[in-house]
Amino acid sequence: MNLRINDIEGKVCESCGKPLTVEDVYARKIGNEIHYFCCSHCADAFERKMKQG
Ligand SMILES: [Zn+2]
Repeated sequence: MNLRINDIEGKVCESCGKPLTVEDVYARKIGNEIHYFCCSHCADAFERKMKQG
């Protein structure tokens, strides 16, 4: 993964709202966009929610 600090600065996990750091970030492409989470569990939960509409 190739993330720069500026890319995630001020971002929070899109599933649980936890602030993200460069060392502690999990990115996943969902649809056409990259979404950022604190862990794969949050990514799974978010993706499930998206698919349910
Ligand atoms: Zn999270």
